[in-house]
Amino acid sequence: MAVLPILTYPDPRLRLEAAPVADFAEPSFQGLVDDLIDTMNHAPWCVGVAAPQVGESVQLLVIDCDRSRKKIPLHHGLLVVVNPAILAWQGMAIAREGCLSLPQYTGNVARAVDMNVQFQDRHGVTQTMDMADFEARVLQHEMDHLEGKLFVDRVVSRRSDLFPRRH
Ligand SMILES: [Zn+2]
Repeated sequence: MAVLPILTYPDPRLRLEAAPVADFAEPSFQGLVDDLIDTMNHAPWCVGVAAPQVGESVQLLVIDCDRSRKKIPLHHGLLVVVNPAILAWQGMAIAREGCLSLPQYTGNVARAVDMNVQFQDRHGVTQTMDMADFEARVLQHEMDHLEGKLFVDRVVSRRSDLFPRRH
């Protein structure tokens, strides 16, 4: 169990396409899951971290909307998400996002509002789940990390939709 250092923009490792996880029984994989949860829990109000943010280019992320500063009415709590895919989605909404890998900025990003997603849990068991609103946004943000994308790539205008973060 360990809190891992977070890579920050423009580290090129944040731009890699992550490989699917195949061996769930591997102790190093299970250790990485625990470390990723510790890393999320260590950062105030942090609701998600993806493995590429700690330099591990595998399709693994953790989210926990219970950790949000604002109370989120509907969510699934702590989820370990491996090899995720969006099966269906509808609606679009714009909201402000931040990222541990871009500590200086927040930005307005358009995301799907309702999603049906499929992924494997930390033991390789397939899960299918409906997600909405904030939780759907968090998952889309973290899934972007698995494709080497950052939220700054998704803002409509870097001039009008990026904001310096006030500490
Ligand atoms: Zn992020």
